[in-house]
Amino acid sequence: MGAMSRRLGTSLAILALLAAAAPVVPTAATAAAQARQGPDRPAVIGKRVIGESVRGRDIVAWHLGEVGKPRVLLVATMHGNEGAPRQILQTLRDGQTIHGIDLWVLPTYNPDGLAAGTRKNAHGVDLNRNFPYHWADLDGSYESGPKAGSEPETRAMMRFLRKIRPAWIVSFHQPLHGVDTDTKRPAFSRRVARHLHLPTKSFTCGGVCHGTMTGWFNDRFKGTALTVEYGAHPGPRQMRRRAPGQVLSIWGAFRGTWAVGQAGD
Ligand SMILES: [Zn+2]
Repeated sequence: MGAMSRRLGTSLAILALLAAAAPVVPTAATAAAQARQGPDRPAVIGKRVIGESVRGRDIVAWHLGEVGKPRVLLVATMHGNEGAPRQILQTLRDGQTIHGIDLWVLPTYNPDGLAAGTRKNAHGVDLNRNFPYHWADLDGSYESGPKAGSEPETRAMMRFLRKIRPAWIVSFHQPLHGVDTDTKRPAFSRRVARHLHLPTKSFTCGGVCHGTMTGWFNDRFKGTALTVEYGAHPGPRQMRRRAPGQVLSIWGAFRGTWAVGQAGD
């Protein structure tokens, strides 16, 4: 945090210069972000390592958008063999400045699973059955771990969510091709489905969903968490060209420096 504060001080000084020099400064937040992150990632206003995986890989969350707007968290690659949607989040991170929401993106929640090409983490645990909400001792492909919250990835996410308390979470998976309607706010599900051009479906886990991140968050927090499933093989064109803008449009957010005429779908 010390380095952050020092950088912030420098940023503020540079911001004053920028404000004087540039005819158009979109907002103080984006100018400060540019000063902090350099021209390569103008969308990024912060970066946080929320914890480490079993194998010691950093789990990184990127802060984008505008502080003070509705807070949104996008999570991808909770299952290591469902990596395609993380391209949506990486595209947002690496693109133009984002306006209209206070956005966190976590492209690779399960880095060990991604490296190994497995659904589970390096302990062989399905992270989406490990949260302390209706946790049950499950085996096989839904191995839930020795107890609720046993995994470092689970605990890192719980800490992070308690800290940032998003109003909205979308957790991206594959390959069921649909937006879950069996959730806290069905109207939000329908809205997400419409904007992402996906069907609405009920992902009931065959009854109760044991130990899921969305279940835990929806139970403990005011905000709403929702599962979105893309198909088995969404193309890079859909993931990198179409979906990023579609996702932002769910909340009327957009990329670029000018608001007028860009807020639509
Ligand atoms: Zn999944």
